[in-house]
Amino acid sequence: MRKNIVAGNWKMNMNLQEGLELAKELNEALKGKTVNCDVVIGTPFIHLATVAATVDTSRIGVAAQNCADKVSGAYTGEVSAAMVASTGAKYVILGHSERRAYYHETAETLKAKVTLALDNALTPIFCIGEVLEERESEKHFDVVKSQIEASLFDLPAEAFGKIVLAYEPVWAIGTGKTATAAQAQEMHAFIRSTVAQRYGQEVADNTSILYGGSANASNAKELFSNPDVDGGLIGGASLAVDKFMPIIEAF
Ligand code: PEP
Repeated sequence: MRKNIVAGNWKMNMNLQEGLELAKELNEALKGKTVNCDVVIGTPFIHLATVAATVDTSRIGVAAQNCADKVSGAYTGEVSAAMVASTGAKYVILGHSERRAYYHETAETLKAKVTLALDNALTPIFCIGEVLEERESEKHFDVVKSQIEASLFDLPAEAFGKIVLAYEPVWAIGTGKTATAAQAQEMHAFIRSTVAQRYGQEVADNTSILYGGSANASNAKELFSNPDVDGGLIGGASLAVDKFMPIIEAF
């Protein structure tokens, strides 16, 4: 059966020392605690190896926030999926709306990144979600469906089964404007049925679908109580342990 996951996305915040401090604090906070979800932290590339060597990786999975769409070679400034895997990271966040919008990531490049992540035994946390205008013109279901189809639906079922999806309505990211629990459930159920149509009900039932967009300690319980919401991808509230822990404990 699918896993519940609470994953932090630190984005481009904190230098190495600060990030390491936060990772250590979270590690301490989780020590001896039973939690009902997997915990992941998505750090900048430069933190990955140090964080992975410092935390108990059986309790905290470490994620990159991106990887290259090429295997290796003359791509100055890029970091390959193999390099990410060599740090001890087990996950990679792909297709975040900030990367799609600011770095022009396309469905095709994301497809290549997903394949390379899987080839290197990384679990992709694949982000999808509509902008406000698309929701207001009621195109949100079509947008999300085509994002999934375009980057993921050429994968064989076995490979698709290794992917975690994160529904992040762009209008809710960093805005303090969370989707209602009903809006989240409606979209998550739609995503699951889209996966079921392509790969069958068993694969769909085993796919973890996280919600992201201004999730916090106050709304996490209500969001996570929905049958198709299997956790959260958390930006701002993952940058302090006293904000992140209550979200983890919302399960
Ligand atoms: C995110 O960036 O993935 C995110 C959900 O951010 P925030 O929680 O800050 O809205």
